[in-house]
Amino acid sequence: MDLSEYIRNIENFPKSGIQFKDITPLLANKGASEYCLDKLLEMIGGEKIDKVVGIESRGFFFGTLLAQKLNAGFAPIRKPGKLPYKTLKEPYQLEYGIDALEIHEDAIKKGERVLLHDDVLATGGTAKAACKLIESLGGEIVQCNFLIELEFLKGRQKLQKQLVKSLLKY
Ligand code: IMP
Repeated sequence: MDLSEYIRNIENFPKSGIQFKDITPLLANKGASEYCLDKLLEMIGGEKIDKVVGIESRGFFFGTLLAQKLNAGFAPIRKPGKLPYKTLKEPYQLEYGIDALEIHEDAIKKGERVLLHDDVLATGGTAKAACKLIESLGGEIVQCNFLIELEFLKGRQKLQKQLVKSLLKY
């Protein structure tokens, strides 16, 4: 199955000059999303994972499905002010300005083996901030796992310490 047939390209979203990769056609198709989940699991191999961490918001879709299949827990990383309990915060650079991500301070126990998942790896700033949060809590990152990698944005260079895997490359 060619999963790229289920990724829709949206020109100039959310702003001019950006080609947004929209995964909703993939989510809408039962066969394609099951196949995608199997392929993401293949990338993880037989690694033992204690917790899957998904990045808001599109990292939650396959992140929670992966957690169930891996017999692991799930923890969300979200934009500031969204998580209700005590949080750890990590700022990161955007093209224009600065944003931040948060995680609950009890989301990961020291020494837990963590899989980080998101839909798209672009410049890598988001995933790098997420890795810092996980490591601050004592998590051991087994793999950074993405559905799509926009290779021309060189996000991997920001994640050099990590094992980075992606299913579809553009
Ligand atoms: P980065 O920090 O530049 O790597 O951007 C990655 C974050 O932005 C991820 O959380 C993605 O969900 C989101 N993102 C960036 N580009 C796209 C896209 O083309 N489609 C969907 N999400 C994207």
